[in-house]
Amino acid sequence: MRVLVLNSGSSSVKYQLVDSDTGERLAGGIVEEVVDHESALSEVVARIEGMDQPVEAIGHRVVHGGAVFAEPALIDDELVEVVGELVPLAPLHNPANLAGIEAARATWPELPQVAVFDTAFHRTLPPAAYRYAVPEAWYTDHGVRRYGFHGTSHDYVSARASDVLGRPRTDLDLIVAHLGNGASITAVRRGHSVETSMGLSPLEGLVMGTRSGDVDPAIVGHVADATGRDEADVLDDLNRSSGLLGLCGDSDMREIVSRADAGDEAAELALEVFCHRIRKYVGAYVAVLGGCDALVFTAGIGEHSAVVRSRVCAGLDVLGIALDDDRNERSEVRISPDDASTAVLVVPTDEEHAIAEQTAHLLARR
Ligand code: ADP
Repeated sequence: MRVLVLNSGSSSVKYQLVDSDTGERLAGGIVEEVVDHESALSEVVARIEGMDQPVEAIGHRVVHGGAVFAEPALIDDELVEVVGELVPLAPLHNPANLAGIEAARATWPELPQVAVFDTAFHRTLPPAAYRYAVPEAWYTDHGVRRYGFHGTSHDYVSARASDVLGRPRTDLDLIVAHLGNGASITAVRRGHSVETSMGLSPLEGLVMGTRSGDVDPAIVGHVADATGRDEADVLDDLNRSSGLLGLCGDSDMREIVSRADAGDEAAELALEVFCHRIRKYVGAYVAVLGGCDALVFTAGIGEHSAVVRSRVCAGLDVLGIALDDDRNERSEVRISPDDASTAVLVVPTDEEHAIAEQTAHLLARR
């Protein structure tokens, strides 16, 4: 099936026309500086018009599916309403996703459309992992719990890892580290997410390009008091001016690695804080799983940065995790020695292919 995959942000719309069987890209690009989502989609229509093979369905990436959506869902009026009710949980993302959905329904009223949620794969987290130790009413009345994100990627990559290992997912316990501009790590027990680093929002967990990941929440009040700024502004700094950018002034890992190589101390520190956080989570997740068959690296940094992989795995021999340096330098699929008890893999993620696949599966089941 030819699925147009849409990722609608507040200022841009990314689109890819994907063959759901093969993952082949038939067209793709980004429309930037969006005035409104309908005009952005008219631009997409203009760009893909005249292709011999028409679009058969639309798959939308939706960031927050709350506690409601455990699977992709067919888009209708009711779904639009429910995703609208989730906006308070994801004020940075869901409004734009929703605007993209509304515009696509107006643009292609005849095509089936499916929402694929970043949170859905993590709906199998047990309460011990998803509950925060906060007053119960925060949870029952306001939905304060860990949801987890990047689920489409963690799901896709763990399926591909099982192909590489030649063992069914139901036999495998995996740790998947998705390291891009956003970063998260997930413990996957026999195909199900059982622990993940992002929480109520994508701010928690690992150090990211511009997000702090884990911090003591007392920091927010402390910095607001010390600077006379609103807590909302301080929170905005934790999302946009922190992480690698906050530590060394750059958010791009390529730049950071080359600065660190040249002896730049701030870049070296940023790299070490980034890798230390991941290493800490790997240890915790081996404990959560009670052992681990494979540690899997994916996304821009995970797929391409041998330095990051090597620093993350350093000193983890006690967990059966070790690297073959030559394989790691070449970013081979299996970068651990053949006799290692835990495999370490590099598996490219492909969220658009995953969304196209899930869209096609759902429509085939109708
Ligand atoms: P997004 O979350 O925006 O999809 P990506 O998965 O594309 O992000 O990852 C972007 C990150 O990957 C950037 O920090 C970039 O520097 C890093 N990256 C890409 N290629 C390399 C490379 N060869 N070495 C180190 N980092 C890389």
